[in-house]
Amino acid sequence: MTRLIFLGPPGAGKGTQAQALADAEKIPHISTGDILRGAVSQQTELGRQAQSYMDKGELVPDQLILEMVRDRLGKNDVNSGWILDGFPRTVVQATFLDKLLQEMHQSCDWVINFDVPDEVLVQRLLGRGRKDDTETVIRHRLDVYRQQTAPLIDFYRQRNQLVSIDGDQPVDQLTTELQQVIQS
Ligand code: AMP
Repeated sequence: MTRLIFLGPPGAGKGTQAQALADAEKIPHISTGDILRGAVSQQTELGRQAQSYMDKGELVPDQLILEMVRDRLGKNDVNSGWILDGFPRTVVQATFLDKLLQEMHQSCDWVINFDVPDEVLVQRLLGRGRKDDTETVIRHRLDVYRQQTAPLIDFYRQRNQLVSIDGDQPVDQLTTELQQVIQS
């Protein structure tokens, strides 16, 4: 049983690694960014409310995210394990997740912190070409990450749940390192 949170700045490679590991372990890869992009493209009420924040590189308000995550973690497939990618992103979200997991009688094994220098992130994101990947929006997303999400590194370190890995290495090496972490 594997239950992991992937923490790290945009462009750190969380999504790629989460998908590979989730496939290998046959567990759901739960990306709040993917769920939100799906909602935007389907023009649901959630998508309509989230879109302007996403386009600007701002965080979508906690209230919307928490409801969405509660729904997602209410599905049966999470009983086999999970990888949370891009959630939690604020202390409010992390505290909510604690309570939710307690209610579910589950706990997270490790929080994997992807460490990557800013300039590498900017270059990677510019190469990705997503709608919210213009240089101005990218720089803003990195500021938002530093201000609102990076405090979670200490939050989880204090509980001895944090494992930091060097995200600035080839994809395959990173996959191998991650496999070693979860097998330990
Ligand atoms: P991502 O694919 O994780 O880079 O997320 C893309 C965008 O979706 C972010 O820039 C935010 O606007 C929004 N988003 C994704 N996850 C969250 C979250 N946990 N809290 C708030 N906003 C989020």
